[in-house]
Amino acid sequence: MASLAPTPTSSYRGRLAPSPTGYLHVGHARTFWTAWQRARDAGGALAMRMEDLDPDRSRSSYAEAAIEDLRWLGIRWHEGPDKGGSFGPYVQSRRRAFYLAAWRKLLRRGYLYPCRCSRKDLETALGAPHERVSAATHGSFGKLEPFDDEPIYPGTCRIFQGNIPQLPGPTVNEIEIPDGINWRFRVPDGEAVEFVDRNLGPQRFVAGEDFGDFVVWRRDGVPSYQLACVADDAAMSISEVVRGADLLKSTARQILLNRALGYNNPSWFHCRLVVDHNGRRLAKRHDSLSLRALRQRGLTPMNILSAELPVEV
Ligand SMILES: [Zn+2]
Repeated sequence: MASLAPTPTSSYRGRLAPSPTGYLHVGHARTFWTAWQRARDAGGALAMRMEDLDPDRSRSSYAEAAIEDLRWLGIRWHEGPDKGGSFGPYVQSRRRAFYLAAWRKLLRRGYLYPCRCSRKDLETALGAPHERVSAATHGSFGKLEPFDDEPIYPGTCRIFQGNIPQLPGPTVNEIEIPDGINWRFRVPDGEAVEFVDRNLGPQRFVAGEDFGDFVVWRRDGVPSYQLACVADDAAMSISEVVRGADLLKSTARQILLNRALGYNNPSWFHCRLVVDHNGRRLAKRHDSLSLRALRQRGLTPMNILSAELPVEV
Protein backbone atom coordinates (compact mmCIF):
# COMPACT_ATOMS: atom_id res chain seq x y z
CA MET A 1 0.00 0.00 0.00
CA ALA A 2 1.47 3.35 -1.02
CA SER A 3 1.81 5.90 1.72
CA LEU A 4 1.55 9.63 2.09
CA ALA A 5 4.62 11.50 0.81
CA PRO A 6 6.71 12.54 3.83
CA THR A 7 7.03 16.00 2.30
CA PRO A 8 4.21 17.30 0.09
CA THR A 9 5.20 17.91 -3.52
CA SER A 10 2.11 19.79 -4.64
CA SER A 11 -0.11 22.63 -3.45
CA TYR A 12 -2.95 20.23 -2.61
CA ARG A 13 -4.00 20.61 1.02
CA GLY A 14 -6.64 18.31 2.45
CA ARG A 15 -7.94 17.80 5.94
CA LEU A 16 -9.39 15.20 8.28
CA ALA A 17 -11.90 16.79 10.63
CA PRO A 18 -13.33 14.36 13.18
CA SER A 19 -15.76 15.50 15.85
CA PRO A 20 -14.92 13.91 19.21
CA THR A 21 -18.53 13.29 20.19
CA GLY A 22 -18.42 9.52 19.95
CA TYR A 23 -16.42 6.68 18.47
CA LEU A 24 -15.72 6.69 14.73
CA HIS A 25 -17.74 4.21 12.71
CA VAL A 26 -17.48 2.55 9.33
CA GLY A 27 -18.82 5.61 7.53
CA HIS A 28 -16.16 7.86 9.01
CA ALA A 29 -13.49 5.30 8.22
CA ARG A 30 -14.39 5.27 4.53
CA THR A 31 -14.63 9.05 4.25
CA PHE A 32 -11.32 9.62 6.03
CA TRP A 33 -9.70 6.90 3.98
CA THR A 34 -10.85 8.68 0.82
CA ALA A 35 -9.47 11.98 2.12
CA TRP A 36 -6.14 10.32 2.86
CA GLN A 37 -6.02 8.63 -0.57
CA ARG A 38 -6.75 11.86 -2.42
CA ALA A 39 -4.03 13.76 -0.56
CA ARG A 40 -1.63 10.90 -1.18
CA ASP A 41 -2.45 10.63 -4.89
CA ALA A 42 -2.07 14.40 -5.31
CA GLY A 43 1.29 14.39 -3.56
CA GLY A 44 -0.29 16.89 -1.19
CA ALA A 45 -0.47 17.70 2.49
CA LEU A 46 -3.04 16.37 4.93
CA ALA A 47 -3.97 18.16 8.14
CA MET A 48 -5.97 16.74 11.04
CA ARG A 49 -8.28 19.21 12.73
CA MET A 50 -10.20 18.19 15.84
CA GLU A 51 -13.69 19.74 15.68
CA ASP A 52 -14.45 19.87 19.38
CA LEU A 53 -16.62 22.99 19.58
CA ASP A 54 -19.69 21.33 21.01
CA PRO A 55 -19.16 21.90 24.72
CA ASP A 56 -21.78 19.38 25.81
CA ARG A 57 -20.85 16.43 23.63
CA SER A 58 -17.11 16.71 22.96
CA ARG A 59 -14.80 14.61 25.12
CA SER A 60 -11.03 14.41 25.07
CA SER A 61 -11.28 10.63 25.39
CA TYR A 62 -13.12 10.50 22.05
CA ALA A 63 -10.49 12.76 20.47
CA GLU A 64 -7.76 10.38 21.59
CA ALA A 65 -9.79 7.41 20.38
CA ALA A 66 -10.31 9.02 16.95
CA ILE A 67 -6.58 9.54 16.49
CA GLU A 68 -5.84 5.99 17.57
CA ASP A 69 -8.56 4.48 15.36
CA LEU A 70 -7.38 6.41 12.29
CA ARG A 71 -3.81 5.30 12.88
CA TRP A 72 -4.99 1.71 13.25
CA LEU A 73 -6.71 2.02 9.86
CA GLY A 74 -3.38 3.05 8.35
CA ILE A 75 -4.23 6.71 7.83
CA ARG A 76 -1.43 9.20 8.41
CA TRP A 77 -1.29 13.00 8.33
CA HIS A 78 1.36 15.71 8.17
CA GLU A 79 -0.10 18.19 10.63
CA GLY A 80 -2.44 17.85 13.58
CA PRO A 81 -3.01 18.16 17.31
CA ASP A 82 -0.56 15.32 17.88
CA LYS A 83 2.12 16.61 15.49
CA GLY A 84 1.84 20.38 15.31
CA GLY A 85 2.44 22.26 12.07
CA SER A 86 2.48 25.80 10.77
CA PHE A 87 -1.32 26.21 10.54
CA GLY A 88 -2.15 25.44 14.19
CA PRO A 89 -3.66 25.20 16.63
CA TYR A 90 -5.33 22.07 15.22
CA VAL A 91 -8.04 21.92 17.87
CA GLN A 92 -11.08 24.11 17.24
CA SER A 93 -11.66 24.96 20.90
CA ARG A 94 -8.31 26.79 20.76
CA ARG A 95 -9.11 28.79 17.61
CA ARG A 96 -11.71 31.19 18.98
CA ALA A 97 -9.78 34.26 17.77
CA PHE A 98 -10.16 33.11 14.14
CA TYR A 99 -13.93 32.70 14.53
CA LEU A 100 -14.37 36.03 16.31
CA ALA A 101 -12.50 37.78 13.49
CA ALA A 102 -14.78 36.16 10.89
CA TRP A 103 -17.91 37.00 12.89
CA ARG A 104 -16.80 40.62 13.25
CA LYS A 105 -16.09 40.92 9.52
CA LEU A 106 -19.54 39.57 8.65
CA LEU A 107 -21.19 41.89 11.14
CA ARG A 108 -19.38 44.98 9.86
CA ARG A 109 -20.31 44.07 6.30
CA GLY A 110 -23.98 43.87 7.23
CA TYR A 111 -24.59 40.15 6.72
CA LEU A 112 -25.66 39.33 10.25
CA TYR A 113 -28.54 40.08 12.54
CA PRO A 114 -29.21 39.08 16.10
CA CYS A 115 -31.95 36.53 16.64
CA ARG A 116 -33.78 36.33 19.91
CA CYS A 117 -36.01 33.40 19.00
CA SER A 118 -35.95 30.54 21.45
CA ARG A 119 -36.12 26.96 20.29
CA LYS A 120 -39.76 26.99 21.39
CA ASP A 121 -40.51 30.14 19.34
CA LEU A 122 -39.09 28.44 16.26
CA GLU A 123 -41.05 25.25 16.83
CA THR A 124 -44.24 27.26 17.17
CA ALA A 125 -43.53 29.29 14.05
CA LEU A 126 -42.61 26.26 11.99
CA GLY A 127 -45.27 23.85 13.18
CA ALA A 128 -44.44 20.31 14.17
CA PRO A 129 -40.98 19.21 13.19
CA HIS A 130 -41.07 16.93 10.21
CA GLU A 131 -38.54 14.80 8.45
CA ARG A 132 -37.46 16.00 5.04
CA VAL A 133 -35.00 13.24 4.64
CA SER A 134 -33.09 12.23 1.62
CA ALA A 135 -30.24 9.97 2.48
CA ALA A 136 -27.86 11.82 0.23
CA THR A 137 -28.41 15.31 1.49
CA HIS A 138 -29.69 15.13 5.01
CA GLY A 139 -28.31 14.10 8.32
CA SER A 140 -25.25 14.64 10.34
CA PHE A 141 -22.86 11.73 10.04
CA GLY A 142 -21.94 12.09 13.66
CA LYS A 143 -21.12 15.77 13.27
CA LEU A 144 -22.63 18.55 15.33
CA GLU A 145 -26.20 17.56 14.66
CA PRO A 146 -28.02 20.74 15.68
CA PHE A 147 -25.82 22.79 13.36
CA ASP A 148 -25.55 20.65 10.29
CA ASP A 149 -29.07 21.02 9.20
CA GLU A 150 -31.61 23.32 10.66
CA PRO A 151 -35.21 24.10 9.78
CA ILE A 152 -35.71 27.04 7.44
CA TYR A 153 -35.80 30.09 9.67
CA PRO A 154 -39.13 31.92 9.33
CA GLY A 155 -37.44 35.34 9.41
CA THR A 156 -38.97 36.59 12.65
CA CYS A 157 -35.94 38.71 13.59
CA ARG A 158 -34.96 39.81 10.11
CA ILE A 159 -36.59 43.18 10.64
CA PHE A 160 -33.60 44.05 12.78
CA GLN A 161 -31.36 43.78 9.74
CA GLY A 162 -29.49 47.01 9.26
CA ASN A 163 -31.08 48.32 12.38
CA ILE A 164 -28.95 46.70 14.98
CA PRO A 165 -28.95 49.76 17.25
CA GLN A 166 -32.46 48.67 18.25
CA LEU A 167 -30.73 46.20 20.50
CA PRO A 168 -30.74 47.51 24.03
CA GLY A 169 -27.34 49.03 24.63
CA PRO A 170 -24.50 49.04 22.15
CA THR A 171 -24.63 49.94 18.49
CA VAL A 172 -23.20 47.71 15.83
CA ASN A 173 -19.76 49.27 15.97
CA GLU A 174 -19.54 48.77 19.68
CA ILE A 175 -20.49 45.11 19.69
CA GLU A 176 -17.25 43.23 20.09
CA ILE A 177 -18.41 39.95 21.55
CA PRO A 178 -21.19 37.89 19.99
CA ASP A 179 -21.98 35.79 23.05
CA GLY A 180 -25.38 35.88 24.69
CA ILE A 181 -27.52 35.96 21.55
CA ASN A 182 -27.83 33.95 18.36
CA TRP A 183 -26.46 35.63 15.23
CA ARG A 184 -27.87 34.66 11.86
CA PHE A 185 -26.49 35.09 8.36
CA ARG A 186 -29.03 36.63 6.02
CA VAL A 187 -29.16 34.53 2.87
CA PRO A 188 -29.94 36.04 -0.55
CA ASP A 189 -33.47 34.70 -1.03
CA GLY A 190 -34.04 33.04 -4.38
CA GLU A 191 -30.37 32.87 -5.38
CA ALA A 192 -29.27 29.48 -6.67
CA VAL A 193 -25.98 28.33 -5.19
CA GLU A 194 -24.35 25.95 -7.65
CA PHE A 195 -21.14 23.97 -7.50
CA VAL A 196 -19.65 20.91 -9.12
CA ASP A 197 -18.78 18.24 -6.62
CA ARG A 198 -15.72 16.24 -7.64
CA ASN A 199 -17.46 13.00 -6.69
CA LEU A 200 -21.20 13.61 -7.02
CA GLY A 201 -21.26 16.10 -9.90
CA PRO A 202 -23.33 19.29 -10.29
CA GLN A 203 -25.24 20.46 -7.20
CA ARG A 204 -27.78 23.23 -6.82
CA PHE A 205 -29.48 24.67 -3.74
CA VAL A 206 -31.70 27.72 -3.61
CA ALA A 207 -31.18 30.13 -0.73
CA GLY A 208 -34.40 30.74 1.16
CA GLU A 209 -35.94 27.52 -0.19
CA ASP A 210 -33.48 24.73 0.53
CA PHE A 211 -32.06 26.52 3.54
CA GLY A 212 -32.80 29.74 5.33
CA ASP A 213 -30.95 32.32 7.42
CA PHE A 214 -28.58 30.18 9.44
CA VAL A 215 -26.92 30.62 12.79
CA VAL A 216 -23.24 31.57 12.71
CA TRP A 217 -22.83 32.20 16.43
CA ARG A 218 -24.84 30.65 19.22
CA ARG A 219 -26.02 32.41 22.32
CA ASP A 220 -23.98 30.05 24.46
CA GLY A 221 -20.82 31.58 23.02
CA VAL A 222 -19.95 28.93 20.42
CA PRO A 223 -19.52 29.61 16.70
CA SER A 224 -21.62 27.39 14.45
CA TYR A 225 -20.17 24.55 12.43
CA GLN A 226 -20.60 26.62 9.25
CA LEU A 227 -18.60 29.59 10.49
CA ALA A 228 -15.84 27.59 12.16
CA CYS A 229 -15.45 25.39 9.11
CA VAL A 230 -15.02 28.22 6.58
CA ALA A 231 -12.76 30.22 8.91
CA ASP A 232 -10.52 27.19 9.46
CA ASP A 233 -10.47 25.96 5.87
CA ALA A 234 -9.42 29.44 4.75
CA ALA A 235 -6.84 29.94 7.50
CA MET A 236 -5.38 26.50 6.86
CA SER A 237 -5.28 27.03 3.06
CA ILE A 238 -7.32 23.89 2.46
CA SER A 239 -7.64 23.29 -1.29
CA GLU A 240 -10.06 20.35 -1.23
CA VAL A 241 -12.67 19.37 1.34
CA VAL A 242 -13.50 15.66 1.47
CA ARG A 243 -16.49 14.87 3.68
CA GLY A 244 -19.82 13.05 3.83
CA ALA A 245 -22.67 13.77 1.46
CA ASP A 246 -24.83 14.77 4.43
CA LEU A 247 -22.94 18.07 4.29
CA LEU A 248 -23.82 18.98 0.68
CA LYS A 249 -26.31 21.59 1.81
CA SER A 250 -23.80 22.98 4.28
CA THR A 251 -21.48 23.47 1.34
CA ALA A 252 -24.05 25.79 -0.26
CA ARG A 253 -24.17 27.81 2.97
CA GLN A 254 -20.39 27.85 3.16
CA ILE A 255 -20.09 29.14 -0.41
CA LEU A 256 -22.18 32.13 0.66
CA LEU A 257 -20.03 32.64 3.74
CA ASN A 258 -16.83 32.42 1.71
CA ARG A 259 -18.12 35.05 -0.68
CA ALA A 260 -19.20 37.34 2.16
CA LEU A 261 -15.81 36.97 3.84
CA GLY A 262 -13.80 37.32 0.64
CA TYR A 263 -12.36 33.80 0.90
CA ASN A 264 -11.70 31.51 -2.06
CA ASN A 265 -13.79 28.37 -2.25
CA PRO A 266 -11.92 25.10 -1.91
CA SER A 267 -12.96 22.20 -4.14
CA TRP A 268 -15.41 19.67 -2.76
CA PHE A 269 -15.52 15.91 -2.82
CA HIS A 270 -18.51 14.52 -0.93
CA CYS A 271 -18.53 10.82 -0.15
CA ARG A 272 -21.65 8.73 -0.40
CA LEU A 273 -23.11 7.90 2.98
CA VAL A 274 -22.94 4.50 4.55
CA VAL A 275 -26.28 3.16 5.72
CA ASP A 276 -27.25 0.09 7.69
CA HIS A 277 -29.31 -2.83 6.41
CA ASN A 278 -32.50 -0.90 7.13
CA GLY A 279 -31.36 2.02 5.03
CA ARG A 280 -30.70 4.21 8.04
CA ARG A 281 -27.69 6.47 8.09
CA LEU A 282 -25.05 5.34 10.55
CA ALA A 283 -25.06 7.26 13.79
CA LYS A 284 -24.06 6.90 17.37
CA ARG A 285 -26.78 4.28 17.86
CA HIS A 286 -24.75 1.91 15.71
CA ASP A 287 -22.26 1.05 18.42
CA SER A 288 -21.74 -2.35 16.87
CA LEU A 289 -20.34 -0.65 13.75
CA SER A 290 -17.85 1.50 15.64
CA LEU A 291 -14.27 0.84 14.63
CA ARG A 292 -13.57 -0.16 18.23
CA ALA A 293 -16.25 -2.83 18.25
CA LEU A 294 -15.31 -4.20 14.83
CA ARG A 295 -11.66 -4.35 15.80
CA GLN A 296 -12.54 -6.26 18.95
CA ARG A 297 -14.41 -8.75 16.79
CA GLY A 298 -11.17 -9.36 14.91
CA LEU A 299 -11.83 -7.39 11.73
CA THR A 300 -8.85 -5.86 9.94
CA PRO A 301 -8.70 -2.40 8.35
CA MET A 302 -9.09 -4.02 4.92
CA ASN A 303 -12.25 -5.84 6.09
CA ILE A 304 -13.70 -2.52 7.20
CA LEU A 305 -12.81 -0.59 4.08
CA SER A 306 -14.08 -3.24 1.69
CA ALA A 307 -16.69 -4.80 3.92
CA GLU A 308 -20.13 -5.85 2.90
CA LEU A 309 -21.24 -4.78 6.38
CA PRO A 310 -23.37 -1.75 5.70
CA VAL A 311 -24.18 -0.75 2.14
CA GLU A 312 -23.71 2.56 0.44
CA VAL A 313 -26.43 4.54 -1.26
ZN1 LIG B 1 -35.24 35.17 15.70
